Amino acid sequence: MKVLVIGGGAREHALCRSLSLDPDVTELHCAPGNAGIAEVAQQHQVDALDGKAVAALAAELEAGLVVIGPEAPLVAGVADAVREAGFPVFGPSREAAVLEGSKAFAKDVMATAGVPTARSYVCTTPAEVAEALAAFGAPYVVKDDGLAAGKGVVVTSDVEEAKAHAAACERVVIEEFLDGPEVSLFAVTDGETVVPLQPAQDFKRALDGDEGPNTGGMGAYSPLPWADPELVDDVLRTVLQPTVDELRRRGTPFSGLLYAGLAITSRGVRVIEFNARFGDPETQVVLARLKTPLASLLLASANGTLADLEPLRWSEDAAVTVVVASHNYPGTPRTGDPITGLAEVAAEDAPHAYVLHAGTRQDGDAVVSAGGRVLSVTATGEDLAEARERAYRAVARIGLDGSHHRTDIAAKAADTATTVA
Ligand code: AMP
Repeated sequence: MKVLVIGGGAREHALCRSLSLDPDVTELHCAPGNAGIAEVAQQHQVDALDGKAVAALAAELEAGLVVIGPEAPLVAGVADAVREAGFPVFGPSREAAVLEGSKAFAKDVMATAGVPTARSYVCTTPAEVAEALAAFGAPYVVKDDGLAAGKGVVVTSDVEEAKAHAAACERVVIEEFLDGPEVSLFAVTDGETVVPLQPAQDFKRALDGDEGPNTGGMGAYSPLPWADPELVDDVLRTVLQPTVDELRRRGTPFSGLLYAGLAITSRGVRVIEFNARFGDPETQVVLARLKTPLASLLLASANGTLADLEPLRWSEDAAVTVVVASHNYPGTPRTGDPITGLAEVAAEDAPHAYVLHAGTRQDGDAVVSAGGRVLSVTATGEDLAEARERAYRAVARIGLDGSHHRTDIAAKAADTATTVA
């Protein structure tokens, strides 16, 4: 099977890496890709937001499967264009992707389907905002009702900051604060059957101890030694299946990756958000543990045959990923700095640790930074402590002027695991 992956971040590098290890994949292509993806896939320059251009590339390559990584092409209807051109696509239609594109729409679907989530108001005027903030009290949660790459949410105890964020958005969702650890659970669906993957946890804040501004994600780990073993089954029954059923009932079936961002509160599991694609950096750790060949899973979603798929197989290993970010990220990042140490990691730390590229590009013989999140250094081990140690050993070999990374990814969870054992 020839597979075309759309996107160019560490998530797509993780997808390409897994697909390249799948014996059914005879050719792997990626557009636009990055300097790391270039090692496992042929790269193509095409506008990822242009459905016609992506469909034309799929036709030229005679792709047997097109996998769309990021949210922007989904919301732009790229999956629809490729599907209409007759190619199997992993990724939801534009209409179904609104589940991620509009938080207000997601809230409406959840209300109809009886899915547990934070109580909320949709506000468009300062008066409505003030009323909603007063109704819930601090800490305040204010969300831009649009795509903001994980950065459109402000959680603050400062009412003026909450109002200022709301004023900067056209339409906001204001909701009650959910207390409790967060879990990311991915599920592959064909619009009817839902196959959950293993849960992961990511780290959204820029600095150690969950301090500093929100980012796209600074690291992740899986499995979650502290989580209830029933969690995945519970979320399948109370969240994932009802949501998929409701979208089908509305005439906009969702096929592709349904990502539930969950809070485990004292009153039970609540949905924080849905996304319509693999999450970054959780994908890096979840795919590191998936033993089932990836193409068969994604193709079954595209073809509507998930009900016939054998149960997924998982490695017993734990996985940790640490994001290395550019100087000043999540503010405007400095780019163009050379990255060193990649060959050393490949020589010394493989196969347990490896580097997935995000914002990188080839500049002559050098690989240079080209975005905010630059690398996802990923490692597996018998437990989280070992995976962590291997990931950080590899991070230490990387040189990137002005870069920063968190030093506490999976630290608490690794301790829990040791205590439990
Ligand atoms: P979202 O884009 O909706 O995932 O929000 C980004 C981050 O903001 C989440 O991962 C949480 O850390 C935080 N957040 C969002 N909604 C809430 C909430 N209702 N209560 C507490 N934290 C929240």
